[in-house]
Amino acid sequence: MAAEVNVAIIGAGVVGLAIATEVAQEEKGIFVFEKNHTFGLETSSRGSEVIHTGIYYPEDSLKAKLCVEGKNLLYQLCERHGIGYKRLGKIIVAVKESEVNELERIYEQGRRNGVEDLTLLSRKELKKLEPNIEGISGLLSPTSGILDTHSLMKFFYNQARERGAEIVFNTEIIGIEKAGTKYKVQIGDRDGVSSFIATIVINSAGLNSDKIAQLAGIDIAHVGYKLHYCKGEYFSLNSKWRHLVERLIYPIPGEAGLGIHVTMSLDGRMRLGPNTRYVDEIDYSVDESQKEAFYEFAKRFLPLLELEDLEPEFAGIRPKLQAPGEVFRDFIVAHEEKIGFPGLINLIGIESPGLTASPAIAGYVAGMVKELFR
Ligand SMILES: Cc1cc2nc3c(=O)[nH]c(=O)nc-3n(C[C@H](O)[C@H](O)[C@H](O)COP(=O)(O)OP(=O)(O)OC[C@H]3O[C@@H](n4cnc5c(N)ncnc54)[C@H](O)[C@@H]3O)c2cc1C
Repeated sequence: MAAEVNVAIIGAGVVGLAIATEVAQEEKGIFVFEKNHTFGLETSSRGSEVIHTGIYYPEDSLKAKLCVEGKNLLYQLCERHGIGYKRLGKIIVAVKESEVNELERIYEQGRRNGVEDLTLLSRKELKKLEPNIEGISGLLSPTSGILDTHSLMKFFYNQARERGAEIVFNTEIIGIEKAGTKYKVQIGDRDGVSSFIATIVINSAGLNSDKIAQLAGIDIAHVGYKLHYCKGEYFSLNSKWRHLVERLIYPIPGEAGLGIHVTMSLDGRMRLGPNTRYVDEIDYSVDESQKEAFYEFAKRFLPLLELEDLEPEFAGIRPKLQAPGEVFRDFIVAHEEKIGFPGLINLIGIESPGLTASPAIAGYVAGMVKELFR
């Protein structure tokens, strides 16, 4: 390990890897540190793998802008580099009269965010597209899709390394302190504890990103960076469902997530999820007792669903800035010069649509790094 590096990126999830790829285009001396033995073992491999279009979020939010931009970049990457994907399309379904206004509001929001290919569907149009879905109206997003997240991360990993970035596994960042205009970064690995100097530190540590900011000396309660873990569980659907639905099917979103939806993997396996449960600890087990609640919720738009079609599958945890009952919070992607930490870039609260937005987040951060090295 060098005594001094230009850029230290903390975390080799999809976002840290995408940033490494982008920054390594221009700069040398880039290191990514990951506490696990390989990349992408945490939130990045525990989601729906949906390419979102940026419909839901307030216009001018980073979530909206980076999702709209990220979707286009992601499809280009998938096409050019053989990363598995399918542009399946998605339908948001209103199951009762009181949801119709909300569906129309989402349509308008999507249009304001620059998503121009949305179509409102009558019950008849919905039935024609998806005969096994029940609803009084729908909103079709034809360019939503799914992708092979592992292949995307592998692509970023290989490309970052080809461009000269070093990715160091089994290495945890355990301390960050100012050292003149730079940072002294302390790491723990198999050999014990050591440290190096970094000109720029990029905190892309997912569920730990608030703690990393705190390690660096930021008062996270004061600046509103404290994360709240929000678990999302999935139940798989049995093989009878493989051909009963063609598109991703979503309900009207809830307070903390997009609602339990029907999604599928590239090989056609179907699942329901994720729910939203605020938790105190990182525990990826699926609570089987949630099965009934999943069934009751999804039965509203999947009338053919039977309780025995569901099996517990996996869970992920959202790094949410929004505490239970609070209003929308945007991604934090900030160069912290204003609060006294020049050269420290924090990425906090990178929940959904973080996978979709990852190439756009990377471009945004690379712009900040370029400015810093000017
Ligand atoms: C249930 C669920 C469903 C989702 N579905 C979608 C979806 O369909 N579409 C979409 O666009 N987005 C989705 N998302 C969001 C998306 O998965 C995330 O936004 C994205 O994966 C975040 O990537 P990341 O690299 O920031 O975080 P992570 O993947 O968590 O990576 C952070 C990395 O930092 C490492 N790390 C942490 N602390 C340290 C330390 N001290 N030292 C060294 N390394 C450290 C961790 O080990 C980890 O590998 C979903 C999320 C969840 C939870």
